[in-house]
Amino acid sequence: MDGQYLYDIAYVATEQGTKITREYGRDIQLFFYLLSTLFLIHGRHKTRTAQREESGLTKQIIKSLNMVPIIWKGARYKTTGRSAPLDTLVIHGMGGNLSGTTSWFQNPFSLVSAHAGVGENEIHEYVKASDTAWATGVWSWNVRSYNLEIQNSPLTSAVLENAKWYLLTVVIPTHFADRRPDRSWILPHKQVKPTQCPKGIDIDSFVEDLGRRWDDMHREQVVINVPVKAEGKVHTAVKVRTAPNTTSQILRTMKKGDGFWYLGKVEGENIVVNNIGNNIWVHLEDGNYCWSGCVKLSN
Ligand SMILES: [Zn+2]
Repeated sequence: MDGQYLYDIAYVATEQGTKITREYGRDIQLFFYLLSTLFLIHGRHKTRTAQREESGLTKQIIKSLNMVPIIWKGARYKTTGRSAPLDTLVIHGMGGNLSGTTSWFQNPFSLVSAHAGVGENEIHEYVKASDTAWATGVWSWNVRSYNLEIQNSPLTSAVLENAKWYLLTVVIPTHFADRRPDRSWILPHKQVKPTQCPKGIDIDSFVEDLGRRWDDMHREQVVINVPVKAEGKVHTAVKVRTAPNTTSQILRTMKKGDGFWYLGKVEGENIVVNNIGNNIWVHLEDGNYCWSGCVKLSN
């Protein structure tokens, strides 16, 4: 269980002052932070730098950061193969917890299954993606869909994070040609059959967040230098944006004198002020960006 091990170390890193969110971009930083902590130096090294290469490597690292174990459990009811191409992802709510759902899928009386189920600490797989799960109650949808069960009783933020992580790093790249997540092909169960399922899960915000994270993972970005974490200071008020360009969403403004932590620098939109400009943007600790022309960086 490598994943569990990494996660435990991540927790130690937290105590040393690195904030951890389970967003993918941030996990990469964490990965290098851990590397530097474990192998290069021991102790407080917030500004220690590590080099990161292009996005191919990034993706590989993301995939190796398996934070929750994925365990094959199987299901009693399924149909081998598919009679239609797989083109739809259907989201279900368990109406209970992971272990209950897993045992129900082994039960002779259940007559149902799904491809996988996500819980708080584990992800269980029941039916291969190439096979048809007895999941939606509508056969024409079963044959074309991948069905994910999400624990919704209790529904916690960890469960939702695990579900997003599993979809973005395993299901979507492997079974949907890494298609960008959107609501045209990711449906709640209730959209294909009258049901309450997936009760308690707001599918619109869930898929919107998946799309945002997918964009973050696929953003073409030239990473110039990635300090694990370094300090900067604002000398001219600057807007914080979701991407390194002026067309992205403005989240807030940092004012003159404000200090901040940042993770690295990236190439983005070229900004020119009074005939002087550059295309370097600062990748802030919270995952967002500000243009470098307004700030002083320590690294
Ligand atoms: Zn359902």
